[in-house]
Amino acid sequence: MTRPVFRFAPSPNGELHLGHAYSALLNADLAEAAQGRLLLRIEDIDIARCTPEYEEGIYRDLAWLGLSWEEPVRRQSDHFDDYHAALERLIDEDIVYPAFMSRGEVRAKIADAEAEGRAWPRDPDGTPLYPTDERRLSARARKRRMADGDPFAWRLDVDAALSIAGGRLSWTEGGSGPGGETGEVVATPAAWGDVVLARKDTPTSYHLSVVIDDALQGVTHVVRGRDLFHATSVHRLLQALLGLAAPICFHHDLILGDDGRKLSKTRNDTALAALCDAGLTPVDIRRMVGL
Ligand code: GLU
Repeated sequence: MTRPVFRFAPSPNGELHLGHAYSALLNADLAEAAQGRLLLRIEDIDIARCTPEYEEGIYRDLAWLGLSWEEPVRRQSDHFDDYHAALERLIDEDIVYPAFMSRGEVRAKIADAEAEGRAWPRDPDGTPLYPTDERRLSARARKRRMADGDPFAWRLDVDAALSIAGGRLSWTEGGSGPGGETGEVVATPAAWGDVVLARKDTPTSYHLSVVIDDALQGVTHVVRGRDLFHATSVHRLLQALLGLAAPICFHHDLILGDDGRKLSKTRNDTALAALCDAGLTPVDIRRMVGL
């Protein structure tokens, strides 16, 4: 029997807090119940914000919680070549283009449209979509601007991508989305517009590296916070484009702070290290997150 594969995939850009504990413990519990494997993946593509100290903190805090995981741990910053190869494929297929507009230019364009009474579309997080004008830039103009050293990001032309991926994309949701979506959920990647797949200083993006790694590592079950529910639509599109299998998803509740807001890595009172120092035990942590 091939065993189900679960993964916990934190980013070492801050201290792990109660929300991470919940996600990690839930992954471990579900893996155990399914007689599956549990992988730990370090998502450190943002090399400016991720540090070896935070990475050490992840191993320390998870071990303190009583978790164990398979070695070697995959660290994304060791695998930029894998993501680059996938990006090249999408560039060759002409569904990824260099996007040169600065934040200020985008803002001005949106302000102009809104001044004319046109509503500008927003993504599920409420951020205005990137304008689509540069999809049509000629190959010559692209080459020239890149050769001139103009800063740019590689963006997915979502309409071209959808026409290649064809058909209806969906995934199996064992948890639930913010609107209670569960079971077979239809993916709506166009809601995100032309997402960034790589930047000059970060040669990949969360979306690209997560789908590559989940596939390379044979992940069958993605258990993560509900804040990433809508991102799954983009992941399904990338999986279809790159010929990768779609894992089953389980999006879980977010642990909220006393103020009712999502916990942040910069607020120290719910950091696992601080709770450990204050004398709490892993059993207390389980109880606090409702497991
Ligand atoms: N690295 C992401 C985070 O720390 C989680 C990614 C995922 O589980 O897909 O929020």
